[in-house]
Amino acid sequence: MIRFNFPYETGNEIKYIEQAIKAGRLSGDGQFTKKCHRWFEERYGFQKALLTTSCTDALEMSALLLDIGPGDEVIVPSYTFVSTANAFVLRGAKIVFADSEASNPNLDVQKIEELITPKTKVVVPMHYAGVACDMDALTILAERYNLYLVEDAAQAIESFYKGRPLGGLGHLAAFSFHETKNVVAGEGGLLVINRERFSKRAEIVREKGTNRSAFFRGEVDKYGWVDIGSSYLPSELNAAFLYAQLEQIEYIEEQRIKHWLRYKELLGPLAEKGRIKLPFIPSYATVNGHMFYILARTGAERDELLKFLKANGIGAVFHYLSLHKSKYFRDKHDGRELPFADYYTEHLIRLPLYVSLEAEQIEYICSKIYDFFKNR
Ligand SMILES: *Cc1c(COP(=O)(O)O)cnc(C)c1O
Repeated sequence: MIRFNFPYETGNEIKYIEQAIKAGRLSGDGQFTKKCHRWFEERYGFQKALLTTSCTDALEMSALLLDIGPGDEVIVPSYTFVSTANAFVLRGAKIVFADSEASNPNLDVQKIEELITPKTKVVVPMHYAGVACDMDALTILAERYNLYLVEDAAQAIESFYKGRPLGGLGHLAAFSFHETKNVVAGEGGLLVINRERFSKRAEIVREKGTNRSAFFRGEVDKYGWVDIGSSYLPSELNAAFLYAQLEQIEYIEEQRIKHWLRYKELLGPLAEKGRIKLPFIPSYATVNGHMFYILARTGAERDELLKFLKANGIGAVFHYLSLHKSKYFRDKHDGRELPFADYYTEHLIRLPLYVSLEAEQIEYICSKIYDFFKNR
């Protein structure tokens, strides 16, 4: 069986976890957390980086920092992970779902303007497969209508928009280090703060509503309850694991991109014959090797191909189910058709992609896809 995912191990994780234990500091914001923060701030020029226990938590912190509440509207793609929407639903916001582009699963920026009302407060672009949304067009809209942009950059580490790092383009951004992502901490995430005015409050919200971070820096002489908040700090054990991964980002990316390109090369002829479609990468975006997906001609063919691959020991999987049609949301949706979100729900297949995937395994997977289309 070729697994769909297998988390990469750099070899330094245990060593760093041991150092964290020996340092006698296991809760959050110790030396490894600080190293991770600095790493993100230096490598990508983020104004401030704060590790969180998950990307979901970073998104929830965003909703708190932007004071989202009942009466506010938040525009979110329908084709995304539940947390992109849920973080704002938890604050009582009304979610307005946007459709995907015809050419790729990212939200269709051309169709955002018609969704904006005087109540709209935030747009949440999610960079699917680490491929950038059209951030300049979104930024123009955000400025015109006074909206916040929160990037769901869960899949987008080490990817760029017109040369600028994803996660650095919205007011706030959220990354994930879940074991299925390019760089992992088991479970973990990062909130990126790209506007100084959110920095202080972000520390407070992350520390259960207390000014403990300022206290540890010696800025106040006692700490107490100053705002709402929750427990969003990961432990040093997670940060130590993550730091080992970050140190090897270049190797991880090189391997993942190599696999991505190999899939593209091997499946290219099948796409040229019109049997499948390959990912479309806009000229402003880059590939970070997070995911390789293909699109089947019909939903029925997609399901058959998945079954065929599974029968041949290949852990290929479908992905999101349109959120506007989910059990939780369908009664709340305004009834608009979102045909491209549905299209990706029904046609998309993700193929195995991780550092330790071998060249022969990719060749085998592609040969099985060719076998499936032999008489079609
Ligand atoms: C993985 C993922 C998340 C959730 O990340 P967690 O760290 O598991 O909370 C959110 N949004 C997108 C787009 C994701 O891919």
